[in-house]
Amino acid sequence: MAKRVVIAGAGLAGSLLAIYLARAGWQVDLRERRGDPRSRNFVQGRSINLAISARGIKALRRAGLESHILQDAIRMPGRMMHARSGALTFQQYSSNPEHAILSISRSALNLALLNAAAAEPNVHISFDQRCSDLDGERGRATFVNTACGGEEQVEADLIVGADGAYSAVRSTMQRREGFDFEQSWLGHGYKELTIAPVASGPHAPFAMEPNALHIWPRGSSMMIALPNPDGSFTCTLFWPHQSADGAADGFDAIADPAIGRRHFEREYADALSMMPTFDADFADNPVGWMLTIRCRPWSSGGRSVLVGDAAHAIVPFFGQGANASFEDCEALVDSLERHPTDIAAAIRDYERARKPNADAIAEMALQNFIEMRDRTASRLFLARKSIEHLLHRFLPALFTPRYDMVSFDTIPYADALAKSQRQDAVLTAVALAALGGVVAGGVLLVRALMAGGA
Ligand SMILES: Cc1cc2nc3c(=O)[nH]c(=O)nc-3n(C[C@H](O)[C@H](O)[C@H](O)COP(=O)(O)OP(=O)(O)OC[C@H]3O[C@@H](n4cnc5c(N)ncnc54)[C@H](O)[C@@H]3O)c2cc1C
Repeated sequence: MAKRVVIAGAGLAGSLLAIYLARAGWQVDLRERRGDPRSRNFVQGRSINLAISARGIKALRRAGLESHILQDAIRMPGRMMHARSGALTFQQYSSNPEHAILSISRSALNLALLNAAAAEPNVHISFDQRCSDLDGERGRATFVNTACGGEEQVEADLIVGADGAYSAVRSTMQRREGFDFEQSWLGHGYKELTIAPVASGPHAPFAMEPNALHIWPRGSSMMIALPNPDGSFTCTLFWPHQSADGAADGFDAIADPAIGRRHFEREYADALSMMPTFDADFADNPVGWMLTIRCRPWSSGGRSVLVGDAAHAIVPFFGQGANASFEDCEALVDSLERHPTDIAAAIRDYERARKPNADAIAEMALQNFIEMRDRTASRLFLARKSIEHLLHRFLPALFTPRYDMVSFDTIPYADALAKSQRQDAVLTAVALAALGGVVAGGVLLVRALMAGGA
């Protein structure tokens, strides 16, 4: 008889996992808290654009969905930095110009995955189903029907919590002894704005270069913009929730659109001129919070398991949350196939493989925030990136920049972190040695000159 799985959450991870498990012969019961998005052709929630890279592409390819889902995605082979003056600097992500991350709307991606899951004969999807409780030993989950009330208990060989950063499945696990949980909020929040398409211009219908991830690095804050197929850009402002002492640079101080406009005139003037709906967007779009969640174990009772943000919410600055969630789905289905008669062992193996990688990408994502908002504006940073690209081009076996390992490769995140730390140490030592050589040379020169003058 086919094994039964109940998946709570039909977001990115839940929908993809449903496809994988259905094809592996499971009977899949996929339940989503929200209403059915397919009638209105839009998944509720924020209009976020995602950067999908090698790991996400590989996972979609495995489901046979790469070309269908990514056909409208827009290539972004590099970053375009916008200075306050409006001056632009393009920096390629990799020494290989073929390498690009892809911009796609989260809603479109989710919808396409849901449709693909619904097309699988042994997937049953239901909406308005909020998971409220879990019994991991019995493989039993409770769902509340949010449309008409009432509660239902469902049993399965495996219950998967794919219910996102604020996972209800995880919070039931938290009630158990031995469950470690750590949640840290970022001091910065985010708000979406829109750059509108244009009728004419060098990139029309795009108001700026479409094949780039645009960044306005401003020290403690930044804005980014990702292109959409209709010519618009979805911009995301990352500002502190609370302004620093003596500054008025946070969402607390800049809540009113008129103040926001004045701030934009100073800090993001080129972008403001392309935002005809600025006042309404600024007033209407809420400020979101970002957090990192680390927990362990990712299971309880041997018949329940977490995937995606439910297991490891991370901040979005490496563009890897969805990519990592897709990798989880691959790892879980592989592990279940390796242990066809022992689900508890499969879950243990899956967690052993994924947890160090989730921790590594969480750390790299936090570090990348500082790089994006602060260092990308510095000449030294750009020079260092150029050196890294040169080293990679001529010594690919010895040196691979972190960005390449994370975004254009699928080596485990933990290996990418460890290798990039070793490379950083070597580069810094070489730079210091070179600097030491210059200083020593300078001292010798001065001595020689002084000796000559004496
Ligand atoms: C501003 C921002 C930018 C980002 N940019 C990127 C990027 O560039 N690249 C990238 O890879 N990632 C990015 N991410 C991260 C990415 O969006 C997430 O990592 C990804 O959506 C995680 O997928 P998931 O399926 O685990 O969770 P979600 O996509 O959040 O899906 C969870 C689903 O579970 C449902 N649900 C919730 N509670 C329940 C319940 N109790 N019962 C049943 N269903 C429930 C929800 O309605 C939702 O449909 C970004 C995130 C943010 C906030």
